[in-house]
Amino acid sequence: FASATALLECHGLERRFGGLVAVTGVDLRIDRGEIFGLVGPNGSGKTTLVNAITGFYPPQKGRILLDGADITGMKPYLVAKRRLARTFQNLALFNGMSVLDNIMLGRHVHLRPSVAKTALYWWLGQPEEIAHRRVCEEIIEFLQLQGVRDEPVESLPIGLKKRVELARALVAEPSFLILDEPMAGMNQEEKEYMARFVLDARDERGITVLLIEHHMDIVTGICDRIMALNYGEVIGTGLPREVVANPRVVEAYLGK
Ligand code: ADP
Repeated sequence: FASATALLECHGLERRFGGLVAVTGVDLRIDRGEIFGLVGPNGSGKTTLVNAITGFYPPQKGRILLDGADITGMKPYLVAKRRLARTFQNLALFNGMSVLDNIMLGRHVHLRPSVAKTALYWWLGQPEEIAHRRVCEEIIEFLQLQGVRDEPVESLPIGLKKRVELARALVAEPSFLILDEPMAGMNQEEKEYMARFVLDARDERGITVLLIEHHMDIVTGICDRIMALNYGEVIGTGLPREVVANPRVVEAYLGK
């Protein structure tokens, strides 16, 4: 059932909300080291599919394998412990906190769970605290955020806010990263920066990426393969140029 090269496999996924079928019959395989794009018109089920994979809205039908392990219906924090990190479509940053503090929050998956252990951690755990900080500082450098590390996040332009979100996902040291419209609201230069960082995350850190993205120039520019959804169903999978030229995909976009 599980393929050796696949990092993620979905078989026959279905997620309904009451009478509404948001996603149905979705089969998906993402190989290690791929940048895999997920496209489709608004309301086609992209976020629902990601929410099913990450455990926020478990599927009512189908199976999900991550790195060979069945994670179907697993709670989001347990999925996160399996080295899956995500960013959200809408910014989820904490205003009033600095860039560095927002990024530090991304280390929570590595903190110890119980209160007693947490107390011990604060008492004995100085070296660990320093290790967390070191990872954050390293990612800040990777994403070229040094110049704003102590600024309050709300003071930043959208391009940098989205980069802080990416940083917060990367400090969890994921092997699989899901980005939900990381370039939304950006100007051309900001988009190109973000595209470069996504490529670098894969090329330099070996991170496999699932990218929900509306900008077709970005999708065809950086994705190895893509899948298109419409009304919750897969209408095309393959090389980006092939899928965007697929008549069903063209029709789905023009029909809106
Ligand atoms: P996309 O991400 O492609 O824009 P979504 O996955 O957000 O699409 O939405 C797919 C469909 O499921 C839409 O019709 C949307 O209204 C519906 N939907 C998504 N989340 C919920 C929810 N929590 N409750 C009810 N309906 C939802």
